[in-house]
Amino acid sequence: MLKMVENVFKNLVSKPATRMYPFEKREPFKDSRGQIEGCEIDKCIFCGICQRKCPANAIVVNKAEKSWEINQFKCVICNACVEACPKKCIVASAAHKTAVSTKENLKVVQAEKPVQAEDASKVTA
Ligand code: SF4
Ligand code: SF4
Repeated sequence: MLKMVENVFKNLVSKPATRMYPFEKREPFKDSRGQIEGCEIDKCIFCGICQRKCPANAIVVNKAEKSWEINQFKCVICNACVEACPKKCIVASAAHKTAVSTKENLKVVQAEKPVQAEDASKVTA
């Protein structure tokens, strides 16, 4: 009983243990893995190493069409592609992706020339 009263008073005067999310957001920790944002397509040589190294089959590289694609829904954020890329052109971010309503919104396609609309929900050059 005495311990409980002590805890009640301690909690009344101490700072809250939680944050007022989403008004107060915590910055990601240094070197934390949030998501793979995409690829700097002008640096990419379409060697396909990232696709072969990916344990989740999340990356598709098309050398003929000069396109690079990631399905972020499949990605397990292991960073193997980032480490293996000889041109260091895969962009990893510490920020976590926000929630989406469909899996298609988690596909990022980048190409030197335009890709078919049905191939991608989000296309960046
Ligand atoms: S490993 Fe790098 S250079 Fe090679 S296809 Fe992947 S992103 Fe492009
Ligand atoms: S971080 Fe890992 S799982 Fe995600 S695309 Fe790269 S190799 Fe694949």
